Amino acid sequence: MQGTADSKLPGLGTTIFTEMSSLAVEHGALNLAQGFPDLPPPPGLVTAAEQALRAGVHQYAPMAGRAGLRQWICHHHARRHGASYDVDNECTIGAGASSLIFAAIQALVHRGQEVVVQTPAYDLYAPAVQLAGGALKEVHLFNESGQWDLQALCQACGPQTRMVILNTPHNPTGTICPPGFLDGLAAQLEGTETLVLSDEVYGPIVHDGRPETSVAAHPALTARSLVFGSFGKLLQITGWKIGWAVGPAPLMAEVRKVHQYDVFSTGAPLQAALEQFLPTAEAEDHLNGLADLYGRKRDRLLQGIRDTAWRFTPAEGGFFQVLDASALIDNNDGKWARTWTRTHGLATIPLDAFFTPPRPMIRLCIAKEDATIDAAIECLRHIAVDHAR
Ligand code: PMP
Ligand code: GLN
Repeated sequence: MQGTADSKLPGLGTTIFTEMSSLAVEHGALNLAQGFPDLPPPPGLVTAAEQALRAGVHQYAPMAGRAGLRQWICHHHARRHGASYDVDNECTIGAGASSLIFAAIQALVHRGQEVVVQTPAYDLYAPAVQLAGGALKEVHLFNESGQWDLQALCQACGPQTRMVILNTPHNPTGTICPPGFLDGLAAQLEGTETLVLSDEVYGPIVHDGRPETSVAAHPALTARSLVFGSFGKLLQITGWKIGWAVGPAPLMAEVRKVHQYDVFSTGAPLQAALEQFLPTAEAEDHLNGLADLYGRKRDRLLQGIRDTAWRFTPAEGGFFQVLDASALIDNNDGKWARTWTRTHGLATIPLDAFFTPPRPMIRLCIAKEDATIDAAIECLRHIAVDHAR
């Protein structure tokens, strides 16, 4: 992507997701790169969308989102996390979680203020902070023992910190916020004005019976926090781009000041379909089954490559599994992920797109049909054989 000499985002190109998806199309490769499911959405949701279109829901939705859908979102946070958000003033629906995360950063970060982010991090946060004129302060997500590093995060926070960005389940690493971590952060932030932006778009997708962790469930943090979710992830409808933010009214009022001009309102018939579908038993069953569904997908993939040179730590949650290619290749610059798209028909995301990983690693999206996962396993096995040494 080319820009002007006076670009506000110099050095920023097309996202790795766009690049790898294009490469996959160009070479007819399986696309386990960009994080989207190839599983269909629940049938009742598709029917509800058809009905909404036929019922004539074609004009703007309200700026904050349809009231019935906001009601469901607030109820969802109350049931799952014991949180109490006001439907009118503490919940906003946007064009995916992305639009609201972006709006929140623009609305709340002043020029020169620090925003602390754990790295590797989802690629949206840094340019959003940069456009707001904020100063990004990166800390390593992991300590030397490979655990989420609470100490590093706390040490990075000080009177100058406007915002801390959290993401659990984590993209790209597939880890989740460990028990006690939020208590530690809450203690660190006590008495400060620091805000927390908690990106929980993969929220309920946690593997092996782990509990779902949410800032919304942490009373010592909720008053300073905005929490973000995405129907794209929960219902296999990433292309609908409908997400939400919940948080205290004064913060939400600021987010809406940006949201009302950059998006204003989104996908009226799709919101109507969600509003109709989500209270059904089919929806309840689907949401309750998400953790198991994706846990089985992860297991299927790992089982298929367990006797190869690929190394891995099983993902703890989310859409992604990371594989370590250090027994196959030396090079750590992401070149191989691009090469394998061409030579072995499998597109993945090289982790070096997010940070400098200690070893060559790739990220695979596991939100796929079993047949897609099996085909990916075949490709991975061929890659392992061809790089045997
Ligand atoms: N946060 C994270 C961590 C993501 O992985 C994604 C994209 N998949 C988003 C936010 C954006 O979600 P949405 O598609 O709802 O905008
Ligand atoms: N969140 C998706 C991922 O991590 C990508 C979304 C996008 O392409 N912007 O793969």
